[in-house]
Amino acid sequence: MDQLPIFVTLKGQPCLVVGGGEVAERKVRQLLAAGATVTVNSPQLVSDLQELLDTKRIHAVLRPFNTTLIETHLLVIAATSDRAVNHAIAAAAHKALRLCNVVDDPAHSSFINPSIVDRSPLIVAISSGGQAPVLARMLRQQLERWLPLRLGALADWAGQWRDTIKVRLPDIAARRLFWERAFSGALSDHVLAGRMPAADDALHSALDAQADAGSDSGEAWLVGAGPGDPELLSLRGFHLLQHADVVMHDRLVAPKLLAFARRDAEFIDVGKVGGGPGTSQAQINALLLARVRAGKRVCRLKGGDPYVFGRGSEEAEVLAQAGLRFQVVPGITAANGCGAYAGIPLTHRGLAQAVTFVTGHLAPDSDVAGDDLNWAALAALKQTLVIYMSGRKLAAIAAQLMTHGRAGQTPAAVVIAGTTPQQRIISGTLADIAQRAADAGLGSPALLYVGEVVGLAGHLGRHTPGGPTTRPSLELRPGDLQ
Ligand code: SAH
Repeated sequence: MDQLPIFVTLKGQPCLVVGGGEVAERKVRQLLAAGATVTVNSPQLVSDLQELLDTKRIHAVLRPFNTTLIETHLLVIAATSDRAVNHAIAAAAHKALRLCNVVDDPAHSSFINPSIVDRSPLIVAISSGGQAPVLARMLRQQLERWLPLRLGALADWAGQWRDTIKVRLPDIAARRLFWERAFSGALSDHVLAGRMPAADDALHSALDAQADAGSDSGEAWLVGAGPGDPELLSLRGFHLLQHADVVMHDRLVAPKLLAFARRDAEFIDVGKVGGGPGTSQAQINALLLARVRAGKRVCRLKGGDPYVFGRGSEEAEVLAQAGLRFQVVPGITAANGCGAYAGIPLTHRGLAQAVTFVTGHLAPDSDVAGDDLNWAALAALKQTLVIYMSGRKLAAIAAQLMTHGRAGQTPAAVVIAGTTPQQRIISGTLADIAQRAADAGLGSPALLYVGEVVGLAGHLGRHTPGGPTTRPSLELRPGDLQ
């Protein structure tokens, strides 16, 4: 972060604008809107500034720039049309330790004016640090569309109730829960529609209901985070993640997703490195139970889908046995996600009528692939096999399938780090895929696809929209986050 965003209270504070043209006038109006006491320093003033002076809304020093003025002002804005003068103003301000903005010249400014979306008292400020003003402007336009015009009224209304709620719900977690519900339900709809008496009534009922329920707010959310691309999280998962008091996440969860959670949430990394040391499942279960029992809302973020080779069902069982509230939010499992991004459909008329997800995981020291698997069934024709956790067992898996009748020429592919910018695809046949993967240096996480559909990847993979490099940007629309 190159700059610290701050909101400065300027009410009654002396601010200096050097320059008397239209640019200066725009800056003067911004400062006046924030209640500043503005002095303009310029030999001449455009008519609008002159009018502000005549009506005594600003002061003016009608001379060329004079450094002594800087000492008596909190903020300085250099808005003359002469670059050399602007730089002299910036240098003088710097020396006097005053904050100075040179219009359209971030390199000489010690502060900049961000783009703002004004829903006072709610204000959103956006800056790209001068690197991409168009991007900042686009974001501002999206937010303008997305944030209801009466959002400011909602913030004002909440402000009026703040002290009352504090008294009724002294517990900070209960209060946070109350406001989250208030801002996402019928209550805020009333305010946004201007139905204030109905809003007040609904607030009273919500307050009574919550006070009666006590602090029994603990809950677990087993959320599937998808295979890697953070944009593959479901909207429901996204909402829950934003509200969680505690976030417990796996090694496979995209780190970018964690930024959607509250800053003050507790983050617990329970990443388990395959076969290596890490948090054991028993420890994870114990952590989960303890946090939920303490009244926390715990978002257990799991790679892919929680109920596909994710041990999510074991965590659900533990929660159910303990009589605790939980819900499961499905995710895009690796087989679906990686298939889509790699151009491998899981079924295709004429090529595959069934798809089977299998785990190739065995004890780390075993070379044998899945003694207990029904290899004859897995080798059956017209089906797609997707084998999770196949890493070290590729050769053994391929050998078993061929022994049980699947042809060596069957197309096969390994997708590594699918749906992420690091996605790699190694293609071949059942007979040579293990060797090709070894030659290419297999990474993780990796999935093995076997079946005729894999042959479509060469064609479909090239055209796949939404692939990691061509994906459209996530555009928020009104209501997306409610
Ligand atoms: N619950 C997860 C699976 C967890 S098991 C899901 O539904 O996807 C972990 C295995 O998933 C890895 O060993 C690998 O085989 C597979 N996997 C997960 N993410 C992957 C990715 N981005 N690319 C390739 N394989 C992946």
